[in-house]
Amino acid sequence: MGIRVLPSELIDQIAAGEVVERPAAVVKELIENSLDAGASRIDLEIEAGGTRLIRVTDNGKGIAADELTLAMSRHATSKISSLDDLEALATLGFRGEALPSIGSVARLKLTSRAADAPQAWSLVCDGGAIGEPKPAALGVGTTVEVRELFFNTPARRKFLRSERTEYSHLDDVVKSLALARPDVAFSLKHDQKGQFSLPVATDRAAREARIAALCGDELLEHATWFERAVEGMSLEGWVAAPTFSRAQPDLQFTFVNGRFVRDKLLKHAIRHAYRDVLYQARHPACVLFLTIDPRRVDVNAHPAKLEIRFRDSRSVHDFVFRTIESVLAHPESQVGESRPAPAVLPAAPGDGAPRQISELPLGQSSRRLPPLYQRLHSQPPLSITRVAEPRDPAASPALDLGTALAQLGGIYVLAEVAEGLVIVDMHAAHERITYEAMKLEFAADRLAAEPLLIPIDLRLAEREADVVENLQGALTQLGFAVERRGIGEIRVLAVPRLLADADIATLVREVVADLAIQGTSTTVEAAADALLADMACHSAVRANRRLGLEEMNALLRQMEQTPRIDQCNHGRPTWTRVTLGELDRLFLRGR
Ligand code: ADP
Ligand code: MG
Repeated sequence: MGIRVLPSELIDQIAAGEVVERPAAVVKELIENSLDAGASRIDLEIEAGGTRLIRVTDNGKGIAADELTLAMSRHATSKISSLDDLEALATLGFRGEALPSIGSVARLKLTSRAADAPQAWSLVCDGGAIGEPKPAALGVGTTVEVRELFFNTPARRKFLRSERTEYSHLDDVVKSLALARPDVAFSLKHDQKGQFSLPVATDRAAREARIAALCGDELLEHATWFERAVEGMSLEGWVAAPTFSRAQPDLQFTFVNGRFVRDKLLKHAIRHAYRDVLYQARHPACVLFLTIDPRRVDVNAHPAKLEIRFRDSRSVHDFVFRTIESVLAHPESQVGESRPAPAVLPAAPGDGAPRQISELPLGQSSRRLPPLYQRLHSQPPLSITRVAEPRDPAASPALDLGTALAQLGGIYVLAEVAEGLVIVDMHAAHERITYEAMKLEFAADRLAAEPLLIPIDLRLAEREADVVENLQGALTQLGFAVERRGIGEIRVLAVPRLLADADIATLVREVVADLAIQGTSTTVEAAADALLADMACHSAVRANRRLGLEEMNALLRQMEQTPRIDQCNHGRPTWTRVTLGELDRLFLRGR
């Protein structure tokens, strides 16, 4: 076969392979067109998961009658005209591919009336065959109807999944677009049934109502709102407390200049910000809006424009990471007056509505747990997340863990607060306190060493003794003085002051093992957080230590001063609360 130019219909169908793999992709392209047209209201009607019908109606600026045919032509766009425009893109679309691609693999009808036109016109494109424009009836705006997707491409149709699966992809797309643009009203109907109808949301309360409608109320009950700006960039949104983590990244939404993106760099920055406080392999939940000079982003890097490229990726990563990290460290002191009251107020605790079991941060099946325990652990800690009444920002200490009453089971400290009872896991709390203190010291210089009155001799594997000999600098930075005595013998002369109470033999063995894994690296900076977290963890396993009331109160006061105190280094909660109301309900006592 010689080389030949493909017929334009075939070119469109090939392009459709990139742009429209499934109904959800069609919906994305059509909604983006409506948004680019300045619509303030977009209504969607879907049938059979989008395989039978997708109808998108907007009140945007419409298309002039003499441009309808052009709109259906390949590489015809009103959005850019030069390379310069592409570098500072302000629209979601720009390739002029969507309508012709969709029209080549479905029965498409485009009806539109431009703002100044006396009437509407419509145009049909049936499997790539474009008809003549005909007069039609429509208010100002545009309706695009897409029927029988892939009717002429059986191979593609075969790849469609069940209607229900296709609908759930479609629903995800609509959700992300509706989150991205709170300034636009959206409604969605599936098989004649209304799914949602979202009014325009201008203030924060309305935006939170929209988030609650799309993602469920729980996210907001656990989330902190914040906004930060630096030179040339701003970030705002909601980040959920680490204890409200998810098994899937399904509640992680990132928007850049109003565009929903799944960007590796942003994902990494978020994960990094939660690294100290997230339970193992869980995913944080957040809704984040990054605004940045469009010249500093390239959105033309991915067919569906889901991935983007930042020109200065380092500074974006740093900004996002630092911002979220600081919000997580001090959720109660976010900019703005008081923290937002959740738009949909949480149901009164103990109302019998079970919380989602899979969201327990403990990685255990809650089915085996007694109900009170379940409730305790599915409640967010007090004052961090459940702020019903706005708090006076001037009122000092944000966190009040009350007065110690007793110690329970060698693990829990019970304390009285105005609202009821606070329960602290003293080991988890101690671990966090120690870790934060070590990070501070380490950042200032190195961990302070405390000489041992009686040095401790330990036997290790030869390889580990080598580590001790070779990584003296690292050990010194971490606050140890350890020397090699023989082939597999070492002597511990000093340990970090903050860990002086720890089981020293175990601590040293663990640190040496960690350093051995870090390899030959002589600097510990790179691995500092992980090393310090491990050290804090080993130091905190002083099981069954009896604490006096004074010690317990000291622990509570230290906790109040410690950043990220709500979770231990592994993301388990360090404390929780049982309100008097909950106790009353337990005892069936009405007030
Ligand atoms: P692109 O969005 O990349 O420009 P499309 O094929 O999606 O390409 O659309 C082609 C053109 O049709 C757009 O540039 C725009 O001028 C016009 N258009 C499409 N949908 C709408 C709409 N809903 N309202 C107004 N104009 C539209
Ligand atoms: Mg488009």
